[in-house]
Amino acid sequence: MTPITRPEPAPGQLFIDGRWRDAADGGRLDVLDPSTGRIATTVAAGSAKDVEDAVAAARAAFPAWRDTPVRERGRILNRVAALIREHADELTALESLDVGKPVSLCRPVDVFTAADVYEYYAALIQTAGGGHRTVAMPAHAYTRHEPVGVVAAITPFNFPLILSSSKLAPALAAGNTVVHKPADDTPLSALFMAGLLTEAGVPAGVVNVVTGRGPDAGEPLLRHPGVDKVAFTGSTAVGRHAAATAGAALKPVTMELGGNAANIVFDDADVEKAVGTVIKAFVFNTGQFCMGGPRLLVARPLHDTLLGILAQAVPGVPLGDPFDPVTVIGPMAGERHLAKVQDYLGRARAEGARIVTGGERLDRPGCYLQPTVIAGLPDSSPVVQEEIFGPVLTVQPFDTEDEAIALANGTPYGLAAGVQTRDVARAHRVAARLDAGIVWVNDWAMLDPAMPFGGVKASGFGREYGPEGLEPYTRTKSVLISLEA
Ligand code: NAD
Repeated sequence: MTPITRPEPAPGQLFIDGRWRDAADGGRLDVLDPSTGRIATTVAAGSAKDVEDAVAAARAAFPAWRDTPVRERGRILNRVAALIREHADELTALESLDVGKPVSLCRPVDVFTAADVYEYYAALIQTAGGGHRTVAMPAHAYTRHEPVGVVAAITPFNFPLILSSSKLAPALAAGNTVVHKPADDTPLSALFMAGLLTEAGVPAGVVNVVTGRGPDAGEPLLRHPGVDKVAFTGSTAVGRHAAATAGAALKPVTMELGGNAANIVFDDADVEKAVGTVIKAFVFNTGQFCMGGPRLLVARPLHDTLLGILAQAVPGVPLGDPFDPVTVIGPMAGERHLAKVQDYLGRARAEGARIVTGGERLDRPGCYLQPTVIAGLPDSSPVVQEEIFGPVLTVQPFDTEDEAIALANGTPYGLAAGVQTRDVARAHRVAARLDAGIVWVNDWAMLDPAMPFGGVKASGFGREYGPEGLEPYTRTKSVLISLEA
């Protein structure tokens, strides 16, 4: 494989009705390279006027896309997948630059998963749909699964390509048109994808990309009467506001929100394997992973041993330039994200916690933070309860299975959870009792387009991936035709 080098992206424009153009008011937004601290490029800062145009384009394109035969929509989505694979190096370079993701993670995880997602929904839509029903009256009765119309897809900074694909692929497969508002700070792959979608045959107006700040470019989408559905991924705080705003306009919403998963290591676990899983769970994507495992709950007999192993192993995880193929932990995606994590570290110190390893920003340009393990905090600490969203692990002991489950379920969130055990019955028993949309046993971050993910409680509602991920992009119509003479 040829090495992937740091790209120099051209300034970005909005993509509306199949054309590239500047924001109506000429606004621009800086895009940071978090691995160097330099501004990598700028993109257009869209606002309400641009959203107006994008929604109008999506509305106008809807009837023809809805009526495009499903085989043809599937063929186009398969071409999108093929183009993603063909351009894997460029996409990896852009996404790694934008987010600070190690290329070693970005290529196999972000880029190839995005291709898989397009292929999955291209295939699924061929067999999805309504069906005949048996009814009491003499009637031919059937259901139709129709597209909902114009979808607003609003996505966060941490997995830009995957999270846009998990919305665009099912939305387009089902015959919807889309206005995509990527994250303010990581918009580059969305713009690149607009080019690939067009090359694959997605007609003008079917996908529109409006980059910009949330309140300027996202908020108007939530309120626009021409938007039929909102698919939102982001923080719980913004999600609450988005759900309330869209809900007031009676728009259906899916909300993929924050997380704060517990990783439970029982005393019968394979310790060596568990250590690898614990580290992967909290450093994956530099801890900027909604389904990461920042809370380690460990059986008391293993507590001190595991802390000792982590203190030795964690500093050895390669941290550095995301374009170095050996790097496992890159920089955080931006100064505001790093500052938030540092604030939590300050609070942990003020509470008297023990920093087992890490805790410091690296003395070099870029947003680098040492992976950090913290012990000795009570469960009630905000550092344990809240979503830190960085490479930080808190560690707490437990005595019984019931206590472990209570601690795991004891935050407002419910997105993911992990169980490390060799006891099969325990694995199933505990998985069933965890308040989470996805549970991993003896590993972490096993994700596949066939397996739905999504939250409970403050982590949101709705599912992406799997047949469940297609449902929100369709609405069911019942048709009953009298058979009476
Ligand atoms: P964020 O909530 O700050 O932003 C998400 C998106 O909302 C961005 O595009 C932003 O511009 C937009 N936005 C902001 N204000 C808005 C407004 N008033 N109206 C409409 N849109 C607005 O989130 P973030 O910091 O980019 O991402 C991190 C968060 O996302 C974390 O909480 C993480 O857990 C969560 N997340 C969840 C999942 C999941 O699948 N559940 C996946 C990834 C990230």
